[in-house]
Amino acid sequence: MTGLLSKLPGNDFFIGIDQGVFRSKSNTVKKYVYTFGDGQAEGNAGMKALLGGKGANLAEMNLIGLPVPPGFTITTEACLLYTKEGREACKMAIEEEVMEGLAKLEQIMASKFGDPTHPLLLSVRSGARESMPGMMDTVLNIGLNDETARAFGKRIGKERFAYDAYRRLIQMYGDVVLGLKAEKGAEDLFDQEMERMKKLRGVAHDNELTLEDLEEVVRKFKAILADNHEKGFTANPMEQLWNAIFAVFESWDNDRAKVYRKLNGIPDDWGTAVNVQAMVFGNLDNDSATGVAFTRNAATGENVFNGEFLINAQGEDVVAGIRTPQEITLAGSRDWAERTGVSEEDRQRKFPSLEELMPEACSELIECGRHLEDHYRDMQDMEFTIQQKKLWILQTRNGKRTGAAMVKIAMDMLEEGLIDEETTLLRIQPSKVDELLHPIFDDDASDFADLIAHGLPASPGAASGQIVFFADDAEEWAGKGMKTILVRNETSPEDIQGMVAAEGILTTRGGMTSHAAIVARGMGKCCISGAGEINVDYKARTITVGDRVFNEGDWISLNGTTGEIFSGKLPTIDAEISGEFEALLSLSDKHARMDVRANADSRMDATVAREFGAKGIGLARTEHMFFEADQIIPMREMIMAETTKARRDALRKILPIQRKDMEDLFEVMDGYHVTIRLLDPPLHEFIPKEKENQEEIAKALGLPVDQIRTKVRQLQEINPMLGHRGCRLGISFPEVTEVQARAIIEAAISIKRKGLKVLPEIMVPLVGKVGEFVNQEKIVRQTAEQVFAEQGERIEYKVGTMIEVPRAAVTADEIAEKAEFFSFGTNDLTQLTLGFSRDDVGSFLPLYLKERIISYDPFKRIDEEGVGYLVALAVKKARAKDPDFPLGICGEHGGNPESIQFFENVGLDYVSCSPFRVPVARIAAAQATIRQRVMVDAKV
Ligand code: PEP
Ligand code: MG
Repeated sequence: MTGLLSKLPGNDFFIGIDQGVFRSKSNTVKKYVYTFGDGQAEGNAGMKALLGGKGANLAEMNLIGLPVPPGFTITTEACLLYTKEGREACKMAIEEEVMEGLAKLEQIMASKFGDPTHPLLLSVRSGARESMPGMMDTVLNIGLNDETARAFGKRIGKERFAYDAYRRLIQMYGDVVLGLKAEKGAEDLFDQEMERMKKLRGVAHDNELTLEDLEEVVRKFKAILADNHEKGFTANPMEQLWNAIFAVFESWDNDRAKVYRKLNGIPDDWGTAVNVQAMVFGNLDNDSATGVAFTRNAATGENVFNGEFLINAQGEDVVAGIRTPQEITLAGSRDWAERTGVSEEDRQRKFPSLEELMPEACSELIECGRHLEDHYRDMQDMEFTIQQKKLWILQTRNGKRTGAAMVKIAMDMLEEGLIDEETTLLRIQPSKVDELLHPIFDDDASDFADLIAHGLPASPGAASGQIVFFADDAEEWAGKGMKTILVRNETSPEDIQGMVAAEGILTTRGGMTSHAAIVARGMGKCCISGAGEINVDYKARTITVGDRVFNEGDWISLNGTTGEIFSGKLPTIDAEISGEFEALLSLSDKHARMDVRANADSRMDATVAREFGAKGIGLARTEHMFFEADQIIPMREMIMAETTKARRDALRKILPIQRKDMEDLFEVMDGYHVTIRLLDPPLHEFIPKEKENQEEIAKALGLPVDQIRTKVRQLQEINPMLGHRGCRLGISFPEVTEVQARAIIEAAISIKRKGLKVLPEIMVPLVGKVGEFVNQEKIVRQTAEQVFAEQGERIEYKVGTMIEVPRAAVTADEIAEKAEFFSFGTNDLTQLTLGFSRDDVGSFLPLYLKERIISYDPFKRIDEEGVGYLVALAVKKARAKDPDFPLGICGEHGGNPESIQFFENVGLDYVSCSPFRVPVARIAAAQATIRQRVMVDAKV
């Protein structure tokens, strides 16, 4: 028994998995600003809750000697203060520290913010505790006005560049601070103005506009701000800075950030930090560049440094995927050329690698990657800028990766000695393991399929769907149950809902680090990016590849692992467990204290369960067997029977079929426990309500249809879930229990005779009073004795009960005197404890979640304080009778990682879940054991 249980009935032992933000109760004055840049950062990587992931890592990089632009981080607590108390109160609390941070920054940079001769320019970026790529706002080039723009231009000897930076600042200020960003689909006023100017000058590209043109654009942009917002643009650098800081705080609560948080389980009350840094420019000239790099392959997990960059560009240009990015390494560049059909000559001329262009900066970058990976002991996703050949690292974070990459990287790092076994296991996100079990395209079918184009394999997997071009349509079509592929030139953060709704994502532009690719990998969604052979016409809603045209609604299939795009719908096959995944699961079993069983009631389910590593069956619902074609007729005959004799006659027909079903389970589960539950659902579920079906049954049973209708009426209940079901059926119709027990015992003997090991456990459902159990147990044992006598052979078996009625949990000590095991039926236990009908919860649960009356669906994740309390109470009572009393759980919660942690904490022996959840549960069980040990050790 775990030491934790001794604390009942108080429930302070329910150690929440996520403790939320820790708030100091001490009276010390809060520090809101942490500086970095002089090699003596005030923060470090351990301060993510306070400094956000970006801020904490900038500080850490500074401490370990990597080149980061100096700056300071304003904490998440300041953001929470802003949300709660408003702008003025927040400003008052942080102003002094911000000014000190700025002064330090000016000193390091030897320039002054707003200075008319030597101005310092700043970037203001968000940075939450967990990365939320592209969901919040950024303002760059802060500090520019008519005066400083001139001074800055003179200092760097590029006045045109300074004015380009200035017009970008005004545009970003308009979008982010004044909220003038164009509504989806509406024409962007700034873009319109740029187009007008280019037309006027007769040029095609932004970079062909002259200094004078840009001065004009700046005037026009300022006018747009003044016309569309009462405040307009401010020339005062300090005001720009404060407005940008508060706009970033504000963006924590924009719609897309909220959606992203919901999708990724990020609490709303974390807040974002703000990072204020000296600007570095990747768009200064052709000796400047900006890019994104990964220390390992985020799609496959392969241990190769990779990434993309653009010469003479700002960071946003890479992520937006508008220009075709170039590969960092030569090997990566050659690989890319081969995939996309670019000749070596063209590659060298138009798309050379960074390794070829700037070998020194490139090797420094790879060296930084190695340093960071060794330091963090995890795959890093870095953003960098090269300004006139000088490398700056703007950000590093643990890279988002696919499920397959997650497993490979963790197992490789274990092998490389970078991390230990426990860390390896804790690196696995159970929810992502599902991806490895998704079907993949059948290779044989792909060989003959109609291949229409190639793109980059941005996120692996297989997806077939109908073409849609807009995120809203993907959502709407999915709402109608249709499968879609979202096809776009590039995606933006606004498309997130559509990306969630689509089966797969295809973009014609952008590389492996484009928004679409990063977000899709994070979601585990199949994605192909940069399919340049495809032309999208949003107006006509068509795509064209060569001379072939595909319309909205046409089916296409994406192979995200190879980058192949096919027309039509391709057949898929189930994924296999092998390689690193198999090794990871074995490692999980080595560390997990609890076993994982499966809920299975057919040979097929049991076979899948074994393949996925289930150690036995925790719940075979016998009613599912009754629905099989050959059993349903005698079952209905049994229900229609008016006398015990007639019922027995019908049951006699059922016996051999049930026995065969049981034999199947015992055979597949050779050597493992098989828990078989006696009949549970109300009988009306076996008789159809529709007239035509009733007529069919009447014919099959040779009865008048009226008799069927009368029976249906008799069986009708106002509240069937609380009605004539569970052990109440077996008590009313003992012959049903008798025949089920006989089928189980006869099957067990026959399989034992084949030389296999059978461990049957017969389980009584919906017991609330010990008397109910005793009644059913007696029938089971008498029947077993009869069978033993008939067969001249005995077998070991157990009789136990579900604990799914609150009263059973409360009186578990009495029941444990009689029963030989318990299995918690947390579906019914949740229903009966909360008084929420399992079948009707959809009518109010969404509202409860929205209003935060509850924070998660209690039918998916165990309600620890209520239902969990009863589970823990029953555990304590049973284990007081017998410290080794066998205990398991077979409700839906058995496959939910957070609930598995709870079951570990209270000391259950096993969890049982559907066969496809078994791998996830095995990993979650191992993680639970490790966390529980850490928790107990911390308490000792
Ligand atoms: C339960 O109630 O948790 C359970 C496993 O039984 P069923 O879902 O079949 O009611
Ligand atoms: Mg139940």
